[in-house]
Amino acid sequence: MTKIIREYPNSFNLPKRIEGLAKLAHNLWWAWNPDGQRIYSHIDPLLWNAVNHNPIAFLRRVDRTRINAALNQPTFLARYDKVIADLDAYVARKDTWFSSQYPKLKDKTIAYFSFEFGLHESLPVYAGGLGILSGDHLKEASDLGLPLTAVGFVYNQGYFVQHLTEDGWQETRSALIDYNELPLVSLLDENRQPLTICVDLPGRDVTARIWELEVGRVHLYMLDTNLEQNSPADRQLTERLYNSDPEIRISQEVLLGIGGVRVLQLLGFNPDVWHMNEGHSAFLSVERLRGMVNSGLSMDDAIAKVRIGDVFTTHTPVPAGNDQFPLWLIDKYFAQIWVELGMTRDQFIDLGRQAQPWGETFVMPVLALKLSERANAVSELHGQVSRKMWSFLWPNEKVENVPIGYVTNGVHTGTWLARRMGLLFSKYLGSDWVDRLDNPAMWENVVNIPDHELWDVRRHLKNKLVNFANERTRLQWRNGTLTASQVVAGGVFLEPYSLTIGFARRFATYKRANLMFRDFDRLMKMINHPHMPVQIIFAGKAHPADEPGKLIIQQVYRAVKESRSGGRLIFLEDYDINLARYLVQGVDVWMNTPRRPNEASGTSGMKAALNGGLNFSILDGWWREGFNNRNGWSIGSDTEYTNPEEQDAADAQSIYETLENQLIPLFYERNAESIPSEWLKMVKENMRTLTPQFSLRRMLKEYVTDYYLPSIEGKKRNQ
Ligand SMILES: *Cc1c(COP(=O)(O)O)cnc(C)c1O
Repeated sequence: MTKIIREYPNSFNLPKRIEGLAKLAHNLWWAWNPDGQRIYSHIDPLLWNAVNHNPIAFLRRVDRTRINAALNQPTFLARYDKVIADLDAYVARKDTWFSSQYPKLKDKTIAYFSFEFGLHESLPVYAGGLGILSGDHLKEASDLGLPLTAVGFVYNQGYFVQHLTEDGWQETRSALIDYNELPLVSLLDENRQPLTICVDLPGRDVTARIWELEVGRVHLYMLDTNLEQNSPADRQLTERLYNSDPEIRISQEVLLGIGGVRVLQLLGFNPDVWHMNEGHSAFLSVERLRGMVNSGLSMDDAIAKVRIGDVFTTHTPVPAGNDQFPLWLIDKYFAQIWVELGMTRDQFIDLGRQAQPWGETFVMPVLALKLSERANAVSELHGQVSRKMWSFLWPNEKVENVPIGYVTNGVHTGTWLARRMGLLFSKYLGSDWVDRLDNPAMWENVVNIPDHELWDVRRHLKNKLVNFANERTRLQWRNGTLTASQVVAGGVFLEPYSLTIGFARRFATYKRANLMFRDFDRLMKMINHPHMPVQIIFAGKAHPADEPGKLIIQQVYRAVKESRSGGRLIFLEDYDINLARYLVQGVDVWMNTPRRPNEASGTSGMKAALNGGLNFSILDGWWREGFNNRNGWSIGSDTEYTNPEEQDAADAQSIYETLENQLIPLFYERNAESIPSEWLKMVKENMRTLTPQFSLRRMLKEYVTDYYLPSIEGKKRNQ
């Protein structure tokens, strides 16, 4: 194995007393530890916000006088010492959950592949829910001490920046990523040359550089093809997420799957488990087959062996959402490989073949399902839908016996919990509550949180959201990029006393962001009620190619701008992790209106729940499992419709009735101390029931026991 040199590309010339800040900046551990974040904001809060909470950019720009001022403050130095000691202790900790449960397995490796990772707003290499889930997965793997190593891309451009024209049409700007301001560790070989792998694509070799990202105890290896030795076209392979050109896409996926296996080999890993988060990385199995066949295994034995190690998670119940390629592209990219595997073309195509109305395609989830012993969907209902959707692959099985299980998604508590709420938990659940956060028994104690303390924190968080919207809109106004009516749409009339509902997600048509506009007059009456006003904050991007999605944004934005909405309908542009954090922490109610059963799971409502926001949603995805009649509200009923128009009408009716008769009155009902005690009772019931169940910790432990361990032990599914 090559000797590998690891190096921070940046040196910040920090004073010796606080030189640990460079180490802190290069380990994303700080991103889920409020004390870590507060180190930077302590030095210069304005700069910290201006650099979008990016510690590398911060350290490169911070004024020396600010550093010197902090050096003279004993409180700062004490905080600094504590944070560095905490980080060191965290990374060095030997008695993790995994090591105590499975002491014999500490030298195993679980490889985790994803096309995107949403770890923090300063690292914009994610598009949405799938990426946030993989980011949270890595953080929790680190917390639990799993021997997990991840592979992905570092893109040269972030997911697009969204701006709305005055008429609500979504405009997109690409966000160039400056590598000098990412917390990446350089990997160099013994000659101090960047560590690379090479993948042979038709007519060309593509080289990719390997960067390392520290996520607590876990490492993510990120591929980058923007290198001089590559052709201009190949340099752009890692330019951006989800390129819709099929030839670029297949090159990216070959790079991730086949290249990813080579990265792990080069770094000396020999994984026992290969977890594919969605089908984009499924070519990894082809590379593993090739390795085994080259070492003398028969094809049948190689397939059996690959299957034992592979775990596949499917995320979309929408057939069109599945990644697929025309067969001519498979011919072009794999003709040489199937010969090497000793397969015929037909045998190879069979691994991913699916008949479509327009002919046959090679479908990545089919490839993943065929070569994984274990596969899962991401909620119970999504499990049912997935078994039906893929049942054609098991023609001799009843649909209910199709071997696709489910692990309902969760969220990483430390990442999404407001600091102030965390302090309340420490006070009333015990200072070690984080170690037991997936234990339902511990959460019985939320009833002990005094109403006035809980209400204080809730008001504080809503205030922060209101200030955030105001300041962001003020900045845009000053830059001259907004008209006056857009300033109103940006939330300047928001105030912290009204019931505030959040609706933020990708604007795909099935999410029906416009559902509550079906009876606009009725909605207007509700939000402008003289004693019980309601504010609704929208946010979210449409995929740039999704014209119907963009039309829904426009419809929402036009309503937002109407003067009769009184500035109480708001659209906040450019939904990202930062905005999401303000929203899920600050709103009173989180609303989700997918056309059932299209929401595989959804996770944003879980983030709101743990901060004391109540869910008001369709019984789809996770909420169908979380709702218990006392911890929030359902929209519609637990049934399927065949007629979407009927479904929309019934669901809209349900929204209005619940808002008017239950939700709004409950929020405004106050006791003698002006506290909505009945509302807070529901908030506590919501925290008690949902926080442990929909934590990433509960989720990851399920992956360990039901998926990773059987793989490591070499078990077939029914053993
Ligand atoms: C949590 C999150 C998502 C995914 O949430 P859904 O409930 O699936 O819509 C998407 N984008 C951002 C920025 C998030 O924080």
